Amino acid sequence: MIVIKDLHKSYKMGSNVLHVLKGINFNVEEGEMVAIMGSSGSGKSTLLNIVGMLDLLDTGSYTLDGVPIVNLNETKAAKYRNKFLGFIFQSFNLINYKTALENVALPLYYQRVPKKERDEKAMQYLTKVGLANWATHLPSELSGGQKQRVAIARALAAQPKVLLADEPTGALDSTTSYEVMQLLQEINDEGKTLLVVTHEEDIAKMCKRIVQLKDGVIIEDKKVNQVRASEYV
Ligand code: ADP
Ligand code: MG
Repeated sequence: MIVIKDLHKSYKMGSNVLHVLKGINFNVEEGEMVAIMGSSGSGKSTLLNIVGMLDLLDTGSYTLDGVPIVNLNETKAAKYRNKFLGFIFQSFNLINYKTALENVALPLYYQRVPKKERDEKAMQYLTKVGLANWATHLPSELSGGQKQRVAIARALAAQPKVLLADEPTGALDSTTSYEVMQLLQEINDEGKTLLVVTHEEDIAKMCKRIVQLKDGVIIEDKKVNQVRASEYV
């Protein structure tokens, strides 16, 4: 599904160059649930953003579902992003003046799904994340955990092959974090591929594989026995 070979990425800061990723080799198979761990500044978000086609690699190669991700124009990139990738962020990134239902329906709008159908689909995904009764509420009327559920429903609505989550529990208390992880585990149980960036050990252990980044390289990559979040909620 994801094949990354000898990936390097630097950022230029005036006359300084910050070499963030220094030769990453990283494969993800369909159906995996992978935690990407590392201290702050270790390059986790940079790696996830490259996987998510939100940022470009300098050298090396990246193949997504058999498609080499190289020299794509923005239209093509947007097409692959919509087709293959769903995003979940620490700060939810919901649109404040749109209801929960409208937020979930938004990716379907960009896919030109007709209004009635996208509302039905959005409602179906809101129901899946347990928020059917909150469809008409604005983000400001929802708790942090509920906002993240809306964001997860929105990510799922476009039916991507891979979900990319950057610190999805970073703004939530432990109990709410475990509830969100339970939902992500259920989504993975259904076969969806998930990459979860976290710096929290307990969250990482709820994935099936842990990749440890340090100083721009992967220092450990191991399969683990998944801790089920349902034991904690
Ligand atoms: P993490 O997510 O592990 O905390 P990041 O991938 O966000 O780390 O950042 C890795 C390093 O790259 C940090 O030192 C950060 O300041 C730097 N960095 C990230 N994005 C940019 C950018 N767009 N421009 C310049 N430096 C950046
Ligand atoms: Mg980060």
